[in-house]
Amino acid sequence: MDLGLKGKTALVCASSRGLGRACAMALGREGVALTLVARTAVTLEATVKEIERETGVRAVAVAADIASAAGRQAALAACPEPDILINNAGGPPPGDFHDWERDDWIKALDANMLTPIELIKATVDSMIAKRFGRIVNITSSAVKAPIDILGLSNGARAGLTGFVAGIARKTVRHNVTINNLLPGPFETDRLRENMRVQADKAGRPVEEVTQERMAGNPAGRFGDPEEFGAACAFLCGQKSGFITGQNLLLDGGAFPGTL
Ligand code: NAP
Repeated sequence: MDLGLKGKTALVCASSRGLGRACAMALGREGVALTLVARTAVTLEATVKEIERETGVRAVAVAADIASAAGRQAALAACPEPDILINNAGGPPPGDFHDWERDDWIKALDANMLTPIELIKATVDSMIAKRFGRIVNITSSAVKAPIDILGLSNGARAGLTGFVAGIARKTVRHNVTINNLLPGPFETDRLRENMRVQADKAGRPVEEVTQERMAGNPAGRFGDPEEFGAACAFLCGQKSGFITGQNLLLDGGAFPGTL
């Protein structure tokens, strides 16, 4: 399926590894010129080269912290009027809410709620003027099924979800859609690290803990980031202009509800 995206431009945040990288790769395969952002320059440069080699598109690296004002400024300087914006950042750490101070909350809100809102604010008007825009926010399955130890994430992402639900209905008449993708367990560095920590805590082999977790998912496995990237590219496609304000769960069926 040709998504009709050849020649478009995308700003893909937090994209040197994992889900953000998979979104960038999938968009690159559709002929979208890319600007990738991540903090660690060496990993980012390697990813940019790999995407350029594999897809033939032009990709620009911006080594910056997207959760900071200076980082967002650098990203927008490199790609001021993207046709596509993929919002993503690292998730807040797990913990017990008794231990979180105001600063912990502000960090989580900055990275997972206010940064995407700032970037939407900075790019949506030019999308409206061009009568084409696709914004995809990477959130979490925890928006639908909150996880107690991920309170910082549950709170910040719920805030973003509420904000998006309102404005996504205002922009769609200009062919600018805003949707959220909610990952369940996807095989990325983050998930592998979580598995290692869990295994260490339990004093069990990481392979065993990983197999157990996979077996507990209806799909019997973790998601492949490439599957996530494909869903993201689909939402960005020319023919997806009637899909807005949605929260698409990609979790292998782990969430047991009908809606
Ligand atoms: P990952 O494998 O750890 O990759 C994170 C990527 O984001 C890296 O490229 C990292 O590069 C970049 N990054 C992190 N913080 C950044 C910042 N402040 N500014 C710029 N770049 C930043 O993580 P992932 O698994 O792809 O997860 C992506 C998002 O999905 C996270 O918010 C996570 O909480 C959420 N999520 C993931 C899963 C899953 O199973 N994988 C499930 C639910 C939710 P640098 O470190 O070099 O900056």
